[in-house]
Amino acid sequence: MGYKVSYEQADKIFEKLSETYEIWAPKRFKGKGRYSQTDLIRYDRVCRAEDIEYREKSDMPAKEVLSPITQSLFYFTEDEYIESKATSKKLLIFMRPCDIHAQHHQERIYLGNGGFEDLYYKRMNEKVKIVMMECTEGWDTCFCVSMGTNKADGYAAAVRFGDGELLFDVEDQDLAPYFEKMEENGFKPDYIEENEISLTVPEIPDKDVLTKLKSHPMWQEYNGRCISCGACTVACSTCTCFTTTDIIYNENSNVGERKRTTASCQVEGFDQMAGGMAFRHTAGDRMRYKVLHKFHDYKARFKDYHMCVGCGRCIDRCPEFISIVATVNKMAKAIDEITGTES
Ligand code: SF4
Ligand code: SF4
Repeated sequence: MGYKVSYEQADKIFEKLSETYEIWAPKRFKGKGRYSQTDLIRYDRVCRAEDIEYREKSDMPAKEVLSPITQSLFYFTEDEYIESKATSKKLLIFMRPCDIHAQHHQERIYLGNGGFEDLYYKRMNEKVKIVMMECTEGWDTCFCVSMGTNKADGYAAAVRFGDGELLFDVEDQDLAPYFEKMEENGFKPDYIEENEISLTVPEIPDKDVLTKLKSHPMWQEYNGRCISCGACTVACSTCTCFTTTDIIYNENSNVGERKRTTASCQVEGFDQMAGGMAFRHTAGDRMRYKVLHKFHDYKARFKDYHMCVGCGRCIDRCPEFISIVATVNKMAKAIDEITGTES
């Protein structure tokens, strides 16, 4: 059922929802951006509809709500441990269609990869209801249409933000009572049909081509360009890698807490194993690994979609202006060169 509500009415709905739900959405943090006098848009709890930054794409993705950049997993004392507490409320998260697709990738890895279920992710994930933010224009780094992530269904509600009013499509019956007595409306969300940039992901026909592609000179360009900061993966909607650290409180090494922190395959040392062995020694090696993971390996393993959802955040965040779209296009050219299909 569709509804039209004013911002004042939306605030009252939010107030009522807040008794049961934590409401998370992109929010603007003034002056907190990377450069002087720039803002940061990232996920945070909101109380009012006006708090939601819908005019611009968030710098950081929705994954931050369920898997924050750093979190305490459990606390230990001698031979006992206590799990950290999760919120007792349900979670209502506002996100765009590409972010919804990205959440499905996150779920697959955290809840099924290697036959293992991450309980810290699961206990948050099972509380989630999604409010899809209509997205019809995108930005100059988006390529969701190419990746097939411009449309999403299965949301609890969808919303269109207007200047003086909001339109909601409420699908989840648990949310319907909050909209009782609001003006009914036939609203259904629209979707973007064409981005400013597009991408055709090249097929890698066989293992021989893949092996040759791995040693293609195109990757070496990144040795002089990528600074291995990992910003692209931290901002990536679909990256899930993390590392764990034990924080010891005092001289007794048996008392402390285990934290998990986002990790990046782009940072030197990520692949180092016990004994000091590592596999990817240069920025180019690491770039190759990331790009093939997003645009080949993941799909080859799970047999359905590529991992990248085309949100473009890695392009926005890279201090060296490295574009994943340009990189994949270069990779396509390299494959043509290897297979002798260059035009
Ligand atoms: S690789 Fe880049 S465009 Fe693709 S999902 Fe990650 S941040 Fe978005
Ligand atoms: S591609 Fe850009 S953001 Fe990613 S590690 Fe390299 S320099 Fe940093």
